[in-house]
Amino acid sequence: MAVQPQHLQAAVCLLLCFFTSGVSIPDPRQREALIQQEAHMQTGGQVVLTDAEQRLDAVLLKMKQKEIMKADFPPAMHFFEARHLIRTSPIFSLLQMMPKGGALHVHDFSMVDVEWVVKNVTYRPHCYMCVTDNHSIRFIFSSDWPKPLSHCSPWIHLESHRAKMINTTDLDNSIRGNLTLFTDEDPEAAYPSQGVVWDKFEQTFLSILGLVTYAPVFRDYFYEGLEQFYTDNVMYLELRALLPEIYELDGTTHGKDWTLKTYQDIARQFKANHPDFFGVRIILTVHRRVNTSVLTEVVEEAMELRRNFPDIMAGFDLVGREDEGKPLWHFRDALSLPAQRGVTLPFFFHAGETDLEGTDVDQNMMDALLFNTSRIGHGFALPRHPVAKELSRKRGVALEVCPISNQVLKLVKDMRNHPAAALMAENHPVVISSDDPAMFGASGLSYDFYEAFVGFGGIRSNIGSLKQLAINSIRYSSLTPKQQEVALALWQRRWDKFVTNNIF
Ligand SMILES: [Zn+2]
Repeated sequence: MAVQPQHLQAAVCLLLCFFTSGVSIPDPRQREALIQQEAHMQTGGQVVLTDAEQRLDAVLLKMKQKEIMKADFPPAMHFFEARHLIRTSPIFSLLQMMPKGGALHVHDFSMVDVEWVVKNVTYRPHCYMCVTDNHSIRFIFSSDWPKPLSHCSPWIHLESHRAKMINTTDLDNSIRGNLTLFTDEDPEAAYPSQGVVWDKFEQTFLSILGLVTYAPVFRDYFYEGLEQFYTDNVMYLELRALLPEIYELDGTTHGKDWTLKTYQDIARQFKANHPDFFGVRIILTVHRRVNTSVLTEVVEEAMELRRNFPDIMAGFDLVGREDEGKPLWHFRDALSLPAQRGVTLPFFFHAGETDLEGTDVDQNMMDALLFNTSRIGHGFALPRHPVAKELSRKRGVALEVCPISNQVLKLVKDMRNHPAAALMAENHPVVISSDDPAMFGASGLSYDFYEAFVGFGGIRSNIGSLKQLAINSIRYSSLTPKQQEVALALWQRRWDKFVTNNIF
C-alpha cells in the first residue's frame, strides 16, 4: 500500500518534534507532577498522614536510605542468609512493634517456632519417633508401644532414649532440622530446584503431623501460635486448616467437628486472656492431589461446617504445590456445588503460585475468579494476566502476598524483583502474609512486612503504605462489615499509640 502524503507529513513532524524536544530540558513542574501522580497511585498513596505520622515517616525514610546503602542488603539475599541481618535492622524493630492488623494467609501446622516444638513437645512423655527410608522422621504419642510404621525404623521412645544420653543437643538439632526448611548451610546448595525444596517441604509437614495431631499438643500448639502472632502485634488470624483427625494417647480419634470446635474454644480462651486480640477464623483446606470424589466429599463437609460453625468457619481452599496438583478447573463440578444449592461457601483459593506460564495451572487465577474467590492466595503470576488482574482489581479480590514463602520456594531470588512491587505501585488490592513462617525460619508477620516494605516497596513505600497494608488486612478479611468496623477501631487505637511512641 502506498504511503499517504498526510501520513508522511505526520511522520516527519513526529521526527522533528522528537529532535526538537530532545534538545530542550523538560518542564521540571511537569516532571514533579508526574512523580507525584505515581506516588499517589501506589498502595497507601492516598492516605492522608497526620503530623505525627509524617514525623515518623521522616524517621523511617532515613532508616531506609541507610539500609539500602548496606553492602549486604537483606532483601537482595536469601532469607536464610539475611535473617540475622534483618534482626539487627532498626526498621525491623519498628515493624515488630507496629500493629499489623490481621494475618490472612497462614497454615495450621507452621505457626509456631520449631524450637518450641522440639523443647516443649518432643520432651513430653509417651513420645515415639522413627526414621523413614528417605531419612525423614515421624512421630506418635502412645500409651502402649506403637505398631511399626511401614518404611520407617523401629520406634524410639524419646524419653528413655534421651535419658541414656549425656548430651541431647545433636539429637535435638537433628529433630529441629527435620521440622523446618531453614538451614545454616548454603540454601542454594541445599535446595537447588523447586522440586527439591517442595519435596523437603512435604516431608517436613509429615514429620510434624504426628506431633501436632496429638490432642493435648494440638491445643497447646494453637494457643502458642496465637501467642507468637499476638506478640508480633497481629490482632486477627485467618488460618488455613486441614482439620485432620486428632488422636488421644489411647488411639481414639476425633473428627472435623471436634477439631473446629476446639479451635473455636481456644481462640475464645485466648481472646479472654488478651482483650485486644480480635479473633480467629478458619478456612478449611484439602490437598489438591485428592481425586474428585474426595474433593466433593470435603466440599460437602465444608458446607455443613459453615452451617454449624458460622462464627469461625470462613470458607474453603485447596493446598499443596500447584504445579503438581490438578488445576482448579479439573474440580469445577465439585466447586460449583455450593452455588448450585444456593449455599454460601466463600472460596479463598491459592492460585498463581507458579512460574509455569501458559500451562493449565497458570489458569488457576482466572478460574478462581470465575468461582468468585474472595481472595487469591499468592497470585504470584497475576501481573502476566492482564484480564485476571483487571477482574481482581474491579471486584476487590485481594492478593495474599507472602514474600518469604515465594523466595524459599524458589519463585523469586531478589525481593526487589518480586511481582508485587508492580502491583503495589498501582495500589492493586494486596495484603502481606507469612504462609508457613515456622517452615521458613520466620515468625509472625514482621519478617514478611520487612521484605515487602524495604525490598519491593523500595524507597517510595512509606508510613502510608504500611498503614494501608494493615487496614487492607481488615478490609479484605472474611469479617462482616460490622465486625470490620470494630476491628478497625481497635487497630486504630493501637496504631495511634505506636506512632506516638516512636517519634523520637
Ligand atoms: Zn499457603
